[in-house]
Amino acid sequence: KDAAEISLKDIDQLAKSSFPLCMRHMLDKLRENHHLKHGGRMQFGLFLKGAGLKLEDALAFWRAEFSQKVGSERFDKEYAYSIRHNYGKEGKRTDYTPYSCQKIISATPGVGDHHGCPYRHFGEENLRAALNRMGVSGHALEEIMDKVKNRHYQLACTLTFEATHGVSCDSGINHPNQYFSESQKILQA
Ligand code: SF4
Repeated sequence: KDAAEISLKDIDQLAKSSFPLCMRHMLDKLRENHHLKHGGRMQFGLFLKGAGLKLEDALAFWRAEFSQKVGSERFDKEYAYSIRHNYGKEGKRTDYTPYSCQKIISATPGVGDHHGCPYRHFGEENLRAALNRMGVSGHALEEIMDKVKNRHYQLACTLTFEATHGVSCDSGINHPNQYFSESQKILQA
């Protein structure tokens, strides 16, 4: 288990340096719309938990965004429960585990959903633009798009990791939290 902790104020910086594209995308959309639908709240919320965001910080994080859209009263009434639930503080008190790439790739996001895997669920143009914003272009970008065409989504993500960190990732990416912790290992070394 990852012992590291992340704090509320570091989320945007960490997203830029170390979040995989699926999670960057959801943070962008959350900041933009002050809302994420259920599938996004689960995928992103459990990722943040796995990355070491404590429950108190998670509640503050989601409240700060959602209250701009639905008001803090409605947030506390309708949404806070499910966040505590994700941390095993409500209901069956199951400690929910962050989703693997395999699970995320096999999701079927509908209109207005922002969860899922961008390599699998974005159109080509959107994906190219998103990768450009991560600083990936030229030959590296074409290689990634080639993996996507062949439906090797995790390999595409692995190549993105390599292109943005300048190191090889021999184990390959199979979990968003693995992407995050391997990135942090490199950046903190
Ligand atoms: Fe996220 Fe995994 Fe897709 Fe990478 S391959 S974007 S970590 S779901």
